Amino acid sequence: MSTTTPETPTDSGVPTVVAVDGPAGSGKSSVSKASARRLGFAYLDTGAAYRALSWFVVQRRIDPTDSAAVVDALPDFDYRIGTDPDGYHVFVGEHDVTEAIRDPEVTAVVSAVARVPEVRGHLTGLFRTIMRNTPKPGIVVEGRDITTVVAPDAPVRILLTASEEARIARRSAELVGHSAAHVGEQLQRRDRADSRVVDFMNAADGVTTVDSTELDFDMTVDAVIAVVQKETHA
Ligand code: C5P
Repeated sequence: MSTTTPETPTDSGVPTVVAVDGPAGSGKSSVSKASARRLGFAYLDTGAAYRALSWFVVQRRIDPTDSAAVVDALPDFDYRIGTDPDGYHVFVGEHDVTEAIRDPEVTAVVSAVARVPEVRGHLTGLFRTIMRNTPKPGIVVEGRDITTVVAPDAPVRILLTASEEARIARRSAELVGHSAAHVGEQLQRRDRADSRVVDFMNAADGVTTVDSTELDFDMTVDAVIAVVQKETHA
């Protein structure tokens, strides 16, 4: 990271929303978090909410492919997520599930849970409330449908991509002990299932693509910050 000085681009009083979408392994979580830190913004990981609901579904022994049962569980889903990029925690009720939502058992069912329209509507409502109430001058929100559904009017909308090869290599480096072939298969399967619900492989109108295939981490954060500065005329 080249600087820790906040680079807040606006004083309008309305939080500036930086919407970031992208496939698994594109680096969007770590890049979005680092960008939020540099901008002095809050950070919202929407995938963590889908994962937290999936954790809840697994805990309750609900069949994740039974949409009606998943929808019935929504009123009991008491979920809280931190938006501080430096102290980020996810809670379901009293359970701190920050680590547990990354378990392969949760990852395996998240696409099935996320394809239910009522689930998407419910979580989108929660995301918009969090975005509106952010205590910071802006918020970086990352996921799959932020630029198109959750915040289509955001002043900054970015699609963070990388070649499939680069994404598999990055994910394999994170998941020590899993073979690249296995990681690749899981990643492809999840992207295929997820892209049947939302298109996060192609930039919608007005969305800027940042391709990180040839960029290292700091260069990718710089590229994202440059888009934010350009779009907000900072
Ligand atoms: O970003 P992450 O890989 O943690 O997301 C987990 C899952 O949550 C995705 O595979 C997808 O099924 C779902 N998701 C979604 N819409 C979002 C964010 C995540 O459907 N905005």
